[in-house]
Amino acid sequence: MSILNFFKGFAVTFGKLNHASKSGKVVTTEYPEEKRSKPARLHGRHVLNKYEDGMEKCIGCELCASVCPANCIYVRGADNDLENPTSPGERFGFIYEINYLRCIHCDLCVEACPTQAITETKLFEFSFMDREQAIYTKDELVVADDGKPQNLPWEDWRQGEDEHTSEWMRATSPSGSADFVGLVQWAGELGYGTRKPESSQQPNKSSETAPELSPEEEVH
Ligand code: SF4
Ligand code: SF4
Repeated sequence: MSILNFFKGFAVTFGKLNHASKSGKVVTTEYPEEKRSKPARLHGRHVLNKYEDGMEKCIGCELCASVCPANCIYVRGADNDLENPTSPGERFGFIYEINYLRCIHCDLCVEACPTQAITETKLFEFSFMDREQAIYTKDELVVADDGKPQNLPWEDWRQGEDEHTSEWMRATSPSGSADFVGLVQWAGELGYGTRKPESSQQPNKSSETAPELSPEEEVH
């Protein structure tokens, strides 16, 4: 490398510094004190959702575990107690575990789930001291009584990271049918309620103008 290339490198560095100070456009942040806002569809730490009446959405069908390419979900279903059911229907997720040493956040589990029970938040800043802690159990994954993800001591939650946890999946309409465009495709969700359809499904309409549907009309 000639001495000329050496100074050319510095010229690039100082040129960028000068540009940033002149334009006021600073691209670095003081992480972790300051975090950048995350894309709406970022795949982060999972949650197990509940309906607005507090019932768990997971029915223990194991579809999520069977599609997981990293083989990191372990589910076991059990029959609901008829007097005091955990979920609507016959069965519920009795055991639910995700091994975050293996998870690649591909979201295939979210796509496969027939009840939108499992979705992902925008949180990816969490760490473990040993392998056992890396396996999240159902007690940790299931949403709190307010429908929001639990904030566990080893997780770094910031404002907005628990919002719109599962919205991204609405890009897929049931069976890809155009008949579903403009219709709400979510069951009521504890803490979030019923959501509007994604605007990208309606080229000529905004999601703000989507019709309000009664629960009977919603497409689940
Ligand atoms: S996001 Fe992908 S890798 Fe992670 S648990 Fe779901 S299916 Fe498995
Ligand atoms: S999270 Fe969904 S796919 Fe997985 S066991 Fe529960 S209901 Fe089935």
